[in-house]
Amino acid sequence: MCALVLVVEDEPQIADVLEAYLKQEGHRVERAADGKTALTLYRAAKPDLLLLDLMLPELGGMEVLKVVRADGATPVILVTARAEETDQVLGLEFGADDYVVKPFRPREVMARVKAVLRRSAAPREDQAAQVYRVGALEIDTGAVMARLHGHPLALTPAEFRLLACLGATPGRAFSRAELLAAALPDSDALERVVDAHLASARRKLELSGGPGMLQTVRGVGYRLAADG
Ligand code: CA
Repeated sequence: MCALVLVVEDEPQIADVLEAYLKQEGHRVERAADGKTALTLYRAAKPDLLLLDLMLPELGGMEVLKVVRADGATPVILVTARAEETDQVLGLEFGADDYVVKPFRPREVMARVKAVLRRSAAPREDQAAQVYRVGALEIDTGAVMARLHGHPLALTPAEFRLLACLGATPGRAFSRAELLAAALPDSDALERVVDAHLASARRKLELSGGPGMLQTVRGVGYRLAADG
């Protein structure tokens, strides 16, 4: 529900198309037009998935893939030109999860994205009943219940959805706009509504023995950390 996709593509028109389709599917998007920026954004934003072009300025896509793979299991879908067939094979050997060939149909890319995200989520919990644990906090999206030190927190539905979004990627800073789009997608709420809900959620966390967990990140938004 809250996937963040890093689109690494030096052709703006292609990046625009991918971004538009990804957002239509409810994903959030970060963009990099070269390999160096891609690695910086990868480390800062901790995306759930990379859509990675191979022919890039500064640092090639294959180099980016090697670094990402050495670092962890973040899924990577390569986006390659037809002429780079050996690169496709090499890319899979270096640990890419899938690849699409240019020119691609955006619908096909979205299907691959969906499949790779589903696969990468599978080893965790059943999608219908995801449980996020952040320190002493347990967020059970199946039961729509959050517990701190084993005691249920009396959260409103909006507070719960916001915490679930933050808890899906502990330590990552989310902007108010991201949180609004992910947790309250059908509302016309303003970004300060996020502040209000999270101020209330923070009071409840602090009263239940979780001070410092819900952190304000200056100039960005919020993050949920295991300890203050
Ligand atoms: Ca390119």
